[in-house]
Amino acid sequence: MIEIIKELCTGCGICTKGCPFGLIELKEKMVFIKEGCNLCGACVDKCKESAIKIKIEDVQYDTSCFSGVWVFIEQTESKLKGISLELLGEGRRLSDELKTSLTAVLFGERVKELAKTLITGGADEVLTCDYPNLAYYQDEIYTTLLAKLIFERRPEIVLIGATPIGRSLAPRIAARLRTGLTADCTELRIDEEKRLVQIRPAFGGNIMASIITKRRPQIATVRPRVMKPLPPDNQRKGRVIEIIEDLSSIRPKAKRLDFIKEYASGPGIEEANVIVSGGRGLKAAENFKLLEELARLLGGAVGASRAAVDSSWISHLHQVGQTGKTVSPKLYIACGISGAIQHIAGMRTSDCIVAINKDASAPIFDIATYGIVADLFEIVPLLIKEISKR
Ligand SMILES: Cc1cc2nc3c(=O)[nH]c(=O)nc-3n(C[C@H](O)[C@H](O)[C@H](O)COP(=O)(O)OP(=O)(O)OC[C@H]3O[C@@H](n4cnc5c(N)ncnc54)[C@H](O)[C@@H]3O)c2cc1C
Repeated sequence: MIEIIKELCTGCGICTKGCPFGLIELKEKMVFIKEGCNLCGACVDKCKESAIKIKIEDVQYDTSCFSGVWVFIEQTESKLKGISLELLGEGRRLSDELKTSLTAVLFGERVKELAKTLITGGADEVLTCDYPNLAYYQDEIYTTLLAKLIFERRPEIVLIGATPIGRSLAPRIAARLRTGLTADCTELRIDEEKRLVQIRPAFGGNIMASIITKRRPQIATVRPRVMKPLPPDNQRKGRVIEIIEDLSSIRPKAKRLDFIKEYASGPGIEEANVIVSGGRGLKAAENFKLLEELARLLGGAVGASRAAVDSSWISHLHQVGQTGKTVSPKLYIACGISGAIQHIAGMRTSDCIVAINKDASAPIFDIATYGIVADLFEIVPLLIKEISKR
């Protein structure tokens, strides 16, 4: 399926350095591809003479040889990210509907212990790859390894979080495997032809696009906090398969020198169970201290509307909404936020929404579980006082 066009090949050898697996040999100005090529396409991109061609049409379009749903698991310092269990919950639902298996793909260092949690979270099978150079995410190593596993084992669906890592990894995988990718899905379903319908907002949330991928696998990224994890089932059984790979030949282009946490203390808004959010009604940066105090008492994090972020009262890391983060905490307290559609898009799935706003006609009250029509500078100190007492 990989062909060297002899008439075009100049024997320059650039492709030998471009192969992440070191599988290209140059002998007497002739290029040879060794056994084990996974058709990643890196050499095709490197060759300036277009002398390397990959013909994978037949494999890609024969959808019958693809089966199973895969979820790429994210973890940091051997702790699972919330998105991993959310995707497993959704993956379980899809694989039950397709009557196929659900596989969790877990890369990292000293992560084997996490496999049990992934099985109780819905996986039938966990593929683990446990090496020191997988300790943290690196584009080249993770892409090469995941693309290779997908190519060899052929799942029909691959779900990846729409997180900074997933947004870097998923397009690379899709490009290597010459398949499609639907980013930032908010809903997934299976149609009557057993295809994955990938639903995501388009045109600023004004329409919902339903997207079908013709090729396989069908790769989708899903925003954190949109899907719900399953309650852990300790009776659930599954198998753990350890993947042995030689990753030494993959040379990352970047090296991590230091790791600076996004949030100095407490949970980030993506992970927090309680979020106290402030908008333009806060009026000044220093007033966010009030919300920080309330969030601290509730063990939560501080969020913000774009208006507050654009006023430089708080950093963009805290922005909730269409151009910020999607959150779904147990409790969301919106203080001085009007409830614009772009803000609501990022928090509407919160379990309980409390809105504090002076204007009784503010749209935030349409989605609030509890609405307090009042001045936030009166209500928030009262809440702090009352909660401190308890
Ligand atoms: C493409 C695009 C993407 C966007 N993405 C986002 C996004 O990701 N997140 C986001 O939030 N916005 C986003 N926006 C902006 C969005 O349209 C709104 O402008 C923004 O959400 C408004 O923020 P706000 O509610 O804080 O301010 P406002 O709409 O000005 O509301 C302030 C509210 O505070 C109330 N208030 C004032 N004083 C008090 C007080 N003392 N006590 C109680 N209530 C008080 C007022 O009654 C008012 O309802 C986006 C816009 C566009 C066009």
